Amino acid sequence: MSRTNIVFILSDDHAAHAISAYGSRVNSTPHLDRIAHNGVRMDAVFCTNSICSPSRASILTGTYSHVNGVSSIWTEMDYRVPTFPEVLQRAGYRTAMFGKWHLGEHGQALPRGFDTWKIFPGQGDYVDPAMIDERGTHTVPGYATDIVTDLSLDWLDGLGDDEPFCMMVHHKAPHRPWVPDEKHRHLYADGAIPEPETFFDDNESRSRAVRGVRMTIADDMGADDLKQDIPEHLRGPENREARMRWKYQIYMRDYLQCVQSIDDNVGRLLDRLEEKGLAENTLVVYTSDQGFFLGDHGWFDKRLMFDQSLQMPMLIQWPAAVEAGSRCEAIITNVDFAATFLDACGIDAGEELPTSQGRSFLPLLRGERVEDWPDAAYYRYWEHDDPIHAAPAHYGIRTAEYKLIHYYGAGLGVPGASERLFEPEWELYDLAADPAEVRNVADDPAYAEIRAALAAKLTQYQRHYGDEPYRGPDTPRPDWGPYDAETLERVTRVFAR
Ligand code: CA
Repeated sequence: MSRTNIVFILSDDHAAHAISAYGSRVNSTPHLDRIAHNGVRMDAVFCTNSICSPSRASILTGTYSHVNGVSSIWTEMDYRVPTFPEVLQRAGYRTAMFGKWHLGEHGQALPRGFDTWKIFPGQGDYVDPAMIDERGTHTVPGYATDIVTDLSLDWLDGLGDDEPFCMMVHHKAPHRPWVPDEKHRHLYADGAIPEPETFFDDNESRSRAVRGVRMTIADDMGADDLKQDIPEHLRGPENREARMRWKYQIYMRDYLQCVQSIDDNVGRLLDRLEEKGLAENTLVVYTSDQGFFLGDHGWFDKRLMFDQSLQMPMLIQWPAAVEAGSRCEAIITNVDFAATFLDACGIDAGEELPTSQGRSFLPLLRGERVEDWPDAAYYRYWEHDDPIHAAPAHYGIRTAEYKLIHYYGAGLGVPGASERLFEPEWELYDLAADPAEVRNVADDPAYAEIRAALAAKLTQYQRHYGDEPYRGPDTPRPDWGPYDAETLERVTRVFAR
C-alpha cells in the first residue's frame, strides 16, 4: 500500500459553533460537514495558547509556547526546534505550504521543510493580497480563500504518481477584519442571525481580570470592524443593548460570509482529491488555530480559556483508517498534532522529532481505546502585554468535567497592561452543571475538594511540560526567544521524562 498523504487545512479564528457538523445555530457548512460524514468529528480538541502565531508554532513543532518561544504574536520562534514538515520532507515526502504563515517573513522565520511555499505577509489581506515566495513579494489578484485553494490544486496536479505528500492549506479567513467575497454578500443579510444564549451575560461571578477585558461587542468593537460608523442613536450607555444587537448582526454576517468561502473551497479540494483517486489514502484535516467568541458572554475575539475560544474544531477524514461518521471525545491539544501526523505516515515522532511534547492520537482515530490517555489539557495565555484587548495572563487545566483557571496577576510594567496589575484570582467552572461557563464556583465551599484536586493536577501538568508557574512581579520574566545552552538542556531533560 502507498504511503499516507496529509492535507492539513487550517483556518483562522473559525469557532466550532460556526460549523453545522458541530450543531451550529447560525450557519450551514455542507462541505466541512462532508469531512465529518466521511470520517471523525473530534469533540475535545483544545489549543494551548489561544492566539494565532503561538497555535501555529505548537502545531508545527508539537511543543508548548514556553518551549518553541512563540508565546505571543510578537515573540520569535526558536528555530532550533524542528517541525513535522521537515521530518516528512527528510523522509521523502513532497511538502507544500500555502497561505497564512504568521511566524515571520525574513531569514530563518520563512517556512522551512517545504519544497514549495507561498505565504501572506503577517495577517494577509482578503482581496488582491501580497504573497511571498522564494522569488520575493508580489500581488496576487483575487480573493484570498480562492487563491490559497487554487495554489493547492495546482500543486496537487503537478505531483507525480505515487509521490507521498503533505500539503498545508492555511486560510486567512475568517480572521478580522472579516471581508467577504462579493459572491457571498447576499447571505445572512436579513438581520436574523440568532444571538447566543449568553449574549447578555453579566459576567458577575468572574474575576476582575476577566471583567476588565476589552473584547466586548458593545464597547470595544469599533467602526473599523464594522466598516461603518456607529449611528448617533445607538451611542451612549443608555443604548448599549440596542447597539450590541446592531453590531452583532453586522459582525456575524461578515464573519459567516467569510466562512462560506472556506466551505466552498474545501469542497473544491475534496472534489479534486476524489477525482484524482487520492481520497482513500489521504488524511484530510480541517481545523482552526483556535476558536472565537461569536457574541458569547457579550464578547468577540479569543485569548481567554472559555470553551468558545479554547476549542479547535477538528474534522478528519481518512477512509483507509478512520470509520465514517465517528466521534472522538478524548481530550487532545494542538501539541499532539505533529506526533499524530508523523505516526499516520509511519514515522515515530519519538525517534524523528524528539523535541515534541505531544502524543500521537492515531489509535483514537482508529477507534481504539487508550486506557492511559491524558484526562486533561494544560493551557497558558502569555499575551497580557497587549493593551488593546487587555486579556490577563493566566493558566489552567480543563478536564471533561471541570475547568480551573488561575489569573496570576502579571502586568509586568507594560503600558496599558500595568494599570491592570490585579491580585491573583481563580475561577472554577463545573462543566457538567454549567456547560455555558457562567457561574464561577472557585470560592464555593462545596467545590473545595474538587478545586484542590484540580490545582494539584495543574501543578502536575506544569511539571510534565516543563512550564514554570508565575513567581511574582519581582521574579524577572523568562527571556523568550532562542534558547541558551542551559535552557535547551533543561528542555531536553523534560523530554526525557
Ligand atoms: Ca487565529
